[in-house]
Amino acid sequence: MQNNQPIAYASRALTKTEQNYAQIEKELLAVIYGMEKFHQYTHGRNVFVESDHKPLEIIYKKPLFQAPKRLQRMLLRLQRYTIEINYKPGRYMYIADTLSRAYLNNGNNKSEKQDEICHVRSDIEMELENINMGDYLAISAKRQKDIADATMKDPILLKLIDKVAKGWTEINIQQDIAPYYHIRDELSIQGGIIFKGDRCVIPKCMRTEILEQIHTHIGIEGCLKRARECVYWPRMNSEIRDYISKCETCQSYGMKQQKESLVSHVIPDRPWVKVGTDLFSLNDHDYLITVDYFSSYFEIDRLGDTTSKQ
Ligand SMILES: [Zn+2]
Repeated sequence: MQNNQPIAYASRALTKTEQNYAQIEKELLAVIYGMEKFHQYTHGRNVFVESDHKPLEIIYKKPLFQAPKRLQRMLLRLQRYTIEINYKPGRYMYIADTLSRAYLNNGNNKSEKQDEICHVRSDIEMELENINMGDYLAISAKRQKDIADATMKDPILLKLIDKVAKGWTEINIQQDIAPYYHIRDELSIQGGIIFKGDRCVIPKCMRTEILEQIHTHIGIEGCLKRARECVYWPRMNSEIRDYISKCETCQSYGMKQQKESLVSHVIPDRPWVKVGTDLFSLNDHDYLITVDYFSSYFEIDRLGDTTSKQ
């Protein structure tokens, strides 16, 4: 758009794989598509991107390393462009909204242009598929397989997978998957495992087992930190607190900070081998104190001022 007037349009449908992306990934994919499709217009210029996905605006302003791995890869692709992502509610996106309902069908109508779009698409797709989220999880391959198997047998998670794939309709959220509603934008599926960002969602039947794994007697805060790095389930934090609070060993370490024990300095063999000095002021006058490490004898000198000459 220029001066609020459209210059060119483009749209396409998501592939089967892309339909499994987390919502924020889909939104970012759209940005990449737009930037690369119109590369000749967008490269080397300041481009304002309007998105009706609020989290995108926020994550784009954060440092790259804070984004989940797959988003990082997508954000990297956008590094060659100068863009500013601005949130705009969907109801004000008249033109984009209309056209999104009338996308081109890539499969049936293969013109030369279509081939070019397909090329760009498969490129990103391949890049993302190369990122195996499991590789970044601090969970063994064997256990990841168990998690994937258990996910496929967990009726609630199966419903959740269906929602991630087909989208959430805000009315009629079933009670059992309601706890996932507020994190719906962060959910994605890979290798049969549901991910919340970089963390994997643990099926109900494995939660006790995972709790036991996390519990290495490092206290509540330590266990929470460990868990938050790789796993997720609703009410996980309070379940960890409950579980660990029943452990006496963890309790004895508790939340208290260990006190640093006093380390005494080495006492010299005779006076004035080692001294310590510092400035202090009292009643608007400056003084220099010099303490002998051997005897703890001190001298005080009154200073006219605190210049280096003095
Ligand atoms: Zn313990």
